Parts: sequence; C-alpha cells; structure tokens
Amino acid sequence: MTISRELTAKEKLKPLFDDPLKLSFGRNFTDHMFSMDYCGSGWHNPSIKPFQPLVLSPAANVFHYSQEVFEGQKAYKSKKNEILLFRPQENARRLNRSLQRLCMPEIPEEMFLEAECELLKLEERWIPTQMGTSLYMRPTVIGTEAALGVKPSNEYLFYIILSPVGPYFKEGFNPIGLWVSDTYSRAGSGGTGEAKTGGNYAGSLLATREATQKGYSQVLWLDAGEHRFVEEVGAMNIFFILDGKLVTPELGGTILHGITRKSVLELAPELGLAVEERRIAIEEVIDEIHSGKLTEIFGAGTAAVISPVGKIAFQGREYIINGNQTGPWAQKLFATLTGIQYGEIEDKHGWVYKVK
Ligand SMILES: *Cc1c(COP(=O)(O)O)cnc(C)c1O
Repeated sequence: MTISRELTAKEKLKPLFDDPLKLSFGRNFTDHMFSMDYCGSGWHNPSIKPFQPLVLSPAANVFHYSQEVFEGQKAYKSKKNEILLFRPQENARRLNRSLQRLCMPEIPEEMFLEAECELLKLEERWIPTQMGTSLYMRPTVIGTEAALGVKPSNEYLFYIILSPVGPYFKEGFNPIGLWVSDTYSRAGSGGTGEAKTGGNYAGSLLATREATQKGYSQVLWLDAGEHRFVEEVGAMNIFFILDGKLVTPELGGTILHGITRKSVLELAPELGLAVEERRIAIEEVIDEIHSGKLTEIFGAGTAAVISPVGKIAFQGREYIINGNQTGPWAQKLFATLTGIQYGEIEDKHGWVYKVK
C-alpha cells in the first residue's frame, strides 16, 4: 500500500502534554491521522495527514442509520525504546467481523496493520513512557454516502486517530462499584452485541447515567431475555473467582469478544487458575458472595486492563466483594498482562507486536 503524506510543518506541531500521568482519557489528539476511502470498487487513497475535522454530507449514512464500527487499542513504549502493540492481528480480525455484521466492506488485515504502524512511527514522540501510560488508538469506519433511503452505504471512510492517555487508575488500583440493571439490556439475541459498534453504546447511556446517579461507575448487564444471566460491563468483560476457579460468561452472540478477556483465559491456567466459561446467573453471584465462595470480581478490557469490582448493587441492595479491596488474582493478572504489554515480562505467547 502506498500511503500519501501531507505533514504538518515542524513549527506548527502541537506542544506535547505537560504531565502524562495527568492526561484524561481521549481528550488530546496527536498531530496526524490516517484515512482511506471506500467507493464501490475497494479501498483507495490511503493517506496520513494533519488531524482535522471531517467534511461529510448531513445526509451521510452514519448520521441516520449508524453504519459505524471501531476498535480500541494501545501502543506502548518499552524501556528499550521500542513501540509495542498487543495482539493487533486480533483487532484487525474483530474489526472485520464487526464490519461484516454491519454490512460494511472489510479491510485487509495487512492494510490495517500497515496503516497503524506507519502512523505510529510518525507520531512516536506522542507515546508517553511512564508505566501505565500509552498512546490509545481509535480505528473507526463510517458509512459516508449521502442517501436517506435505508440501505448499506456505497461509500465509507476508515480513519485512525491517536490519543495519549495516562494510567486508568489515578489513585492506585482501586475497586469500582457496579449497578446491575434488571430492566435495561445492552444486546439481544441476534442483535449487534458482538460487534464493536457505536449503536450498542448509544443504547447503554441512559442506564449508565442511572448507575452513576446512584453512585456506581458502570452497569453490569444481564441477558435481554430473562434479565438473569450476567453478560458484561460497559466496555469490559466480567470475571469471577468462584470456588478457587476463574468463571466468566460464555460468548453467545451478545457479548463482545474482548481481546483482554481472551488473554486472561489463556494466562490463568498457566498461573495455576482453572477457568470455566459458562452461564452465570445473578442469583448465583449473590448467593456465593454470601457463602464466601465468591472471593473476587473484576472487569477486563483494553482501557483499564483489569478493573477490580468492590461492590455490586442489585434490586436495591448492595453486596461487598472481598471487603471492597483489590483481590490477589486481579492484582496478579494485571501485573502479568501489563508486564507483557510493556515488554518487561517474557512474551511466551507471541502476543507482542513490535512496530519498531
Ligand atoms: C471493547 C469492548 C470490550 C473489551 O474488549 P478488549 O478487546 O479487551 O478491549 C468489552 N466489551 C465491550 C462492549 C467493548 O466494546
């Protein structure tokens, strides 16, 4: 792929962040972006250009019928000054599955990876170096054709923007509180729950607002059919340490295939923790918190990597897990995963992708 380049003049480059540890999530963007167009016959015009607003018709598909899919990834700087990605091939594959589901054209995996690598090499100065910091990447595809008839767009835009981010946990590795919704649902059988698409988030905002008004940071979603089986949290998959085993809801079409989830499931047995993927009812969770067999709950996703859960609220009652403290398995999995991501622990699985 030949990527055309229109670069910002040196004297016009943005000043870097003052303190990378204080960066808030997704508010600052680097100098350049990648973009590529699709019209009928394939992807064209790959280019790297200054970060800039998009010019779209108000009739563009994305504004009316929401053909939109995205990915969330991080680039890390190792102590050896390498630029590292974590399992980016998995993101390329998942993006294509999301694209298929939304009736959008796929992007060849090599093209996706090349676009990311070229943009990262150009924007290297934006990758913060402190442990816990990274350069968040947001590849996005939208339907751009100006047509109000309900049908898949004939034109698309793929772009990648980059945002330097600080550590997810600013005051240490602190447990969050979850509110279990027994009325709203995130995804139904046969729907788009497995696709990383903005529409799933739009539908979740009202419930999330109720959760935060009640003092909880996110919603723990139950299945849409019975409001009984645990599915996932906001932008994270959910895990339980139950009877000394790692239990997580099985994927069944409504749960996002998290790459952190997949990695946790592969790592756990090597750390001596047996895993079980199965349906888990909210009553079981509550009963086992009472029985003392459920010792930890945590979320897993790219943003926080591992996010310990200290309390859950369900039907007007609050349940405390592990004394609202981070448990040993959350700690261990967090340390192992981040160690691999920053190139500090041996990468036995070949998960780390060296950009340079
Ligand atoms: C992105 C996402 C996740 C986590 O996936 P990772 O690949 O681990 O970052 C989980 N749930 C939802 C709904 C998501 O959008």
